[in-house]
Amino acid sequence: MDRDDPLRYPRQRFQIPQGLLYLDGNSLGALPKSTPNDVMQTITKDWGERLIGSWNDAGWVNLPATVAAKLAPLLGVQAGEVVIADSTSVNLFKLLSGVLLADSKRNGTTRRWILSERDNFPTDLYIAEGVLSLFGDRYALKLVAREDIGASIDDSVAVALITHVDYRTGHLHDMRALCQRADVCGVELIWDLSHSAGAVPLDLAGDGANYAVGCGYKYLNGGPGAPGYAYVRQTRQATLPAPLSGWFGHAAPFAFLPAYQPAPDIRRLLCGTPSVLAMIALGSGIDTFDGVSMIELRKKSLALSDLFWQLVDQRCAGMGLRCVSPVDHATRASQLSFAHPAAFAVMQALISRGVIGDFRQPNLMRFGFTPLYTRFTDCWDAIDVLEDVLRSEVWRQPRFSEKKQVP
Ligand SMILES: *Cc1c(COP(=O)(O)O)cnc(C)c1O
Repeated sequence: MDRDDPLRYPRQRFQIPQGLLYLDGNSLGALPKSTPNDVMQTITKDWGERLIGSWNDAGWVNLPATVAAKLAPLLGVQAGEVVIADSTSVNLFKLLSGVLLADSKRNGTTRRWILSERDNFPTDLYIAEGVLSLFGDRYALKLVAREDIGASIDDSVAVALITHVDYRTGHLHDMRALCQRADVCGVELIWDLSHSAGAVPLDLAGDGANYAVGCGYKYLNGGPGAPGYAYVRQTRQATLPAPLSGWFGHAAPFAFLPAYQPAPDIRRLLCGTPSVLAMIALGSGIDTFDGVSMIELRKKSLALSDLFWQLVDQRCAGMGLRCVSPVDHATRASQLSFAHPAAFAVMQALISRGVIGDFRQPNLMRFGFTPLYTRFTDCWDAIDVLEDVLRSEVWRQPRFSEKKQVP
């Protein structure tokens, strides 16, 4: 399968330690070979030699837009519809507070709910709580099961926060269907694409999405703590309130005017000075998708998870693993998660033997497939180790149950 794989070549773009079976690119993308050089050039040449002139000469000031332009095709949007900035959490705050502020000012609105998924990634719910606290009792949070989110979109909802791919199970929502439903009910949707961009083909424009945020350090390979991104459809940009009104979002940041005037375009989603070194690294990360067809990538992603799942069924049957990811290709993203009563300890034992996945509460082992660098042999070899760890019950050793700050 590797020999016949049309996406074999991008693995050369990454530095992957010998012998490591890295199935965690959904949590932290691998290091692109170009990143150290790109970042070092910025440090030694642009910063070290040209100093402050690099804001213009090296294009630092426009990085939020120029790096976003590399990302736009992966989202299926125009370059001027997305911006790189801050973190996913902060970008969510910007969009959610802006959308609610707009709703609260609409004449006669009685919409009450921020709708979201009970098992959403927690930061999304925490941010919603924080935004709510700024509006007194005007709005409240309504949490429903993920499968009920579509049916819960109605005209009592102001905005729904929907995570496109569930971080636990890898379940993939039907973006187009949910956008259509929201449109009919006059509900704003904010998509979290953290586990989507770079993992599944996206067509935000075609599907009718208006707002989205996402993460730079997972499938986009931007490095630990890479900046996130925010998308606002062109037609919504000029009217979206920008409560996180920092100077980089001003219409004329360097006019140093005393009053805030938001930029007329996507730049109003910026707040403070861009983190230049991190932006350069994210740009290198996104460059690893150069020339890669997302259709091919999706095909490979599903072939990898099919193979992994099939091997688990064949080789690890009766050893306590239960896959909680969707069987159906249409609703499966690029990871598989298995429940096991000792998931934490089993994962630690795997990691100690060079098979890197991760553990998620309460009892899940996650394996991410990143088609740019995961090989079919990696799945095969990882299953060899998984089978041995389960059969030998080596995971029962106390050292594999020691908790860590980051599980
Ligand atoms: C990874 C992830 C985040 C991360 O948010 P940060 O602000 O970058 O820490 C947010 N939402 C989802 C759904 C994620 O998977």
